[in-house]
Amino acid sequence: METNGEEKFCGNCDSHNCFDYPKKVFCSTRYWHNENPIVDTLWHCDSYNRVSQECYCVREALKQKNGDRAVES
Ligand SMILES: [Zn+2]
Repeated sequence: METNGEEKFCGNCDSHNCFDYPKKVFCSTRYWHNENPIVDTLWHCDSYNRVSQECYCVREALKQKNGDRAVES
C-alpha cells in the first residue's frame, strides 16, 4: 500500500509532533497561531509543509482507518 504519494497529512508535515499516536498529532504551526494544536494525523491545513522523512504516524493512522475496523476500543 502506497502512502507516500501526493497525499497531504499532518502526520507528514514538518511542524507536527507525535501526540496521541497514531491518531492525533501536535502541530507547532497551529500552536504559534493560538489555535488548537491537537489535530487528526490524517488532516492537514494551509500551512502544510512536507517533511523529508515520512513519519510512521500516517502509516499507522491509515492502517487503523482502513484495516482493522473491527477493533474499536
Ligand atoms: Zn509523527
